[in-house]
Amino acid sequence: MAFRGKLFFFTYQSITMMAHNDCVFCKIVHGEIPAQKVYEDDDVLAFLDINPVAPIHVLLIPKKHIASLANVTETDAALLGKMMALVPKLAEIQKADKGFRLIVNAGSIGNQEVQHLHFHIISGPEPLGRMLAN
Ligand code: AMP
Ligand code: ZN
Repeated sequence: MAFRGKLFFFTYQSITMMAHNDCVFCKIVHGEIPAQKVYEDDDVLAFLDINPVAPIHVLLIPKKHIASLANVTETDAALLGKMMALVPKLAEIQKADKGFRLIVNAGSIGNQEVQHLHFHIISGPEPLGRMLAN
């Protein structure tokens, strides 16, 4: 019986890992690839973008794999609210005291490259300019 219980656990874990084992942000969450972390708790992780578009560029992700903002449901509302409420704190940690921009790309039209929900928090000493390139 104990063996069967352990076997079930192993199988469940394997399925969970297999579902997202090609996800770069899940690998960061699990410590399999490095990141410059700026904030972490049980639910979320924030780290520096590897290819920043401005002097301050932080990514905030849920530790749970959610593929995209396009995939969230009402069951994710508390987590999303927590993430949104963390944004000004992360901006403060990064010394973005004159403001910032929050971007969430979703799907192919949104040009989402990494299929794990992430908030871009972008700022710098200079104004960022127009929201979209012409
Ligand atoms: P998006 O187009 O919204 O999916 O943006 C994905 C972002 O993830 C880009 O800004 C990338 O520079 C960033 N990124 C990809 N891989 C890594 C990584 N290993 N560490 C930090 N940032 C990453
Ligand atoms: Zn993931």
